[in-house]
Amino acid sequence: MLKNVAAKGLIGKRSSLGRSEALRDIGMKEHVHRLFDRSSAYTRIPGSFVEGLKKCSHILEMQIPIKRDDGSIDIFEGFRAHHSIHALPLKGGIRFTPGLKLEDVEAVAALMTLKMAVVDIPYGGAHGGVSVDPSKLSKSELEQLTRNYARELTKSGFMGPSIDVAGPDIGTDSTTMAWVMDEYSKLAPNDTELLAVVTGKPEASGGIAGRVEATGRGFYYALHQFLSDLELTESLGLTNNLDNKSYIIQGFGNVGYYIAKFVTENAKGKIVGILEKDGGTYNPEGLDVKALKKHFDKHHTLKGFDGGDTYSYAEDILSKECDILVPAAIEKTINSENMHLLKCKIVAEAANMPITLKAEEYLLNHGVAILPDILMNAGGVITSYFEYVKNIGHISPGKLTKRWEMRSNEAILKFIAGLLETDLTHGELHVASDLDIVNNALEDLMTNSVKLTQKTANRFAINYRDAAYVNAINRIYENLRYSSYYAA
Ligand code: NAD
Repeated sequence: MLKNVAAKGLIGKRSSLGRSEALRDIGMKEHVHRLFDRSSAYTRIPGSFVEGLKKCSHILEMQIPIKRDDGSIDIFEGFRAHHSIHALPLKGGIRFTPGLKLEDVEAVAALMTLKMAVVDIPYGGAHGGVSVDPSKLSKSELEQLTRNYARELTKSGFMGPSIDVAGPDIGTDSTTMAWVMDEYSKLAPNDTELLAVVTGKPEASGGIAGRVEATGRGFYYALHQFLSDLELTESLGLTNNLDNKSYIIQGFGNVGYYIAKFVTENAKGKIVGILEKDGGTYNPEGLDVKALKKHFDKHHTLKGFDGGDTYSYAEDILSKECDILVPAAIEKTINSENMHLLKCKIVAEAANMPITLKAEEYLLNHGVAILPDILMNAGGVITSYFEYVKNIGHISPGKLTKRWEMRSNEAILKFIAGLLETDLTHGELHVASDLDIVNNALEDLMTNSVKLTQKTANRFAINYRDAAYVNAINRIYENLRYSSYYAA
């Protein structure tokens, strides 16, 4: 395979990120507000309720000092926003990223409330983080920053198993969550539910099987259900299932990688292109995902991968043909600067808010189906919910019923063997592992939530994002209708 056929360096007018329009576009908070307005027109909910629902209930801004390894002191800005308190605890990620702004945190907190409601998880939404580039801190500086952030949250009443349960997001991972939990435990040593203060922990610290890959796996289940809609697939000229589709994926982090893995391994999908922030790789015959992951882990770039052609500009890969484009990086990567270039039939949003409003309007008008973030990437929060339930119950899924299930299966098999007058006892009976239980429950929730969204979209003849928002807003309203707020 010829390499670097279009490597043009990063100078020049075009941006490898394709985000300069995005920066001029409206902010994320205004973006979410407009989506609330657009979709609530299809509900019977009072306008004043919707206005209230746009806003966050509680906001915390912090200045967090750390001592650098060289002895100097630095201060970082941190935030936490509690969106809706219609259901407790609240749940949301912690993000460590440079340039993080309060209004973006508020927008994602609102999105989290909607995400939880659309997949019927009984949490409210929260979000937070620190404006920092974690790659510029040493491990001990990062641990100090994480612990100081967690301490501020706890002291201010913004963290706790019954208040606000944090999880990983951009720039944070299971180790970050273990540090947060440990710091919380120092301030609340007698809290018997302290394991439930964060999710996305390592399994050894109370995490749950399947959480690492859950967002990618949930995305796979949701896509499977969307593509079972004959009307949709016929209108797009696609076969009526998930098999043999071609993909371009933007972002090869946790979510992008697992999506690539699941669609290739489970549905004979072909990944023709993957792009990262410094460029990408393209192969119309399909990329070898396993080999590419090895290359990326080693070199921290997709460039130079010998199973594809290297491209330095995002546009050069985004403009290639594929069935499904998957933005799995950051917000606003699909915008008015690159929307005309896309040659996909579906944009399936794995990242939060990856399409600007202008680009969304353009793509919908050009017959591209958009599968919305609040549904497509809800697998992570669903599995976090299972982890929370495990931590609160102090028992892993299946522990109580495992032996009973095995004995029941043996009894059924014995009964059938008796009827057939044959021996069916060869081999081992499979009893559900924790991972089986988690994955099956995830599939159930994802599939049902997509079905309800499809139903609402058909009922009002609206796009899938508006349909998902309608379902979410209606559910929150119903939830608040019976809340103790109104008790005398
Ligand atoms: P990650 O940090 O593991 O991966 C993101 C990847 O995108 C990185 O490799 C980064 O280099 C790349 N990237 C950044 N800017 C880019 C650009 N302009 N073009 C191409 N690539 C770019 O993060 P993640 O956990 O995979 O999350 C990805 C997205 O999914 C985020 O929007 C996140 O909020 C959302 N999300 C994640 C989860 C989860 O469980 N991890 C759950 C729900 C939503």
